[in-house]
Amino acid sequence: MENTHDTAGKQRLDGSTQAQGDGHRGVARVVNALTIDVEEYFCYAYPGETLSCEEWARLESRAVPHTLETLRILENHNIRATFFVLGWVADREPHLLREIRDRGHEVSSHGYSHALVGTQTPSQFRDDVRRSIDVIAGVIGEMPAGYRAPSFSINGSCLWALDILAELGFAYDASLYPTRMRGNGDPQARHEPHRLDSGMWEFPAATVDVAGLRIPFGGGGYLRLYPFLATRWATHRINSTGRPAMIYLHPWELDPHPPAGPRSRLRRFQHTVNLAKTRSRLLHLCAEFAFAPIGDVLTQIEADMGARPEAVAAK
Ligand SMILES: [Zn+2]
Repeated sequence: MENTHDTAGKQRLDGSTQAQGDGHRGVARVVNALTIDVEEYFCYAYPGETLSCEEWARLESRAVPHTLETLRILENHNIRATFFVLGWVADREPHLLREIRDRGHEVSSHGYSHALVGTQTPSQFRDDVRRSIDVIAGVIGEMPAGYRAPSFSINGSCLWALDILAELGFAYDASLYPTRMRGNGDPQARHEPHRLDSGMWEFPAATVDVAGLRIPFGGGGYLRLYPFLATRWATHRINSTGRPAMIYLHPWELDPHPPAGPRSRLRRFQHTVNLAKTRSRLLHLCAEFAFAPIGDVLTQIEADMGARPEAVAAK
């Protein structure tokens, strides 16, 4: 993949190939993917609890301050990331999108309306994603690099979406959670980054195999719910096999007291548990692990495949 950013983050990527202060000096250090889903705290899609874009427009916006806080944290650690920006937010806050791009981060699409993929027809899905591309490209002058479905909602029942994403020109998709989850997830999906028949890359969310079970970790509610030591252990464990992890979070998770959220008790718990701990956990991750945007990580994987195809295929 072409790397269009060649400043601080490139230095970080190159400079992170040797362990630094982790007790394993001289051992290759895996560069993980850090991803941020830019949306408002009310942009969720659950049956019976979903609000329309018109209803969203009447609620208090908090995306800007918490995204700027995320940018400051990453800048302090000299880390670049991939920002999956919801088209509806990009439409209302174009200056925020430019700020993300101007600070050297990779801009990708989170769709426009945050509708779950399986609730749309292929035509509706194409229109929603196309709309997000048009908004993002209209602001930053270039096609978003990749796509992530709302709530990781591409699974075995709607794999047609991957063909549409490839047709639309994305370099990668990052929508699959290769484990069994309530409402989404795909236990049949591969757990490592891989190229699809279309040529587009798939970079799944992080999972770790424990006692025969494939456990999701490393982002959103999992990052807040699990003890941080568990996230740290799981990341080191899959890095020890040479595989990068994909960490994800939302700027609204840095807000310990969001004004509203889902109505049901379960969803409310998922959205608010340990919000006050997100910031410190992000700081710990940034201090301990090497991160780069997805595009940079895939570029490195492609380079490794060229150098050692059999070694990469065995991971
Ligand atoms: Zn989302």
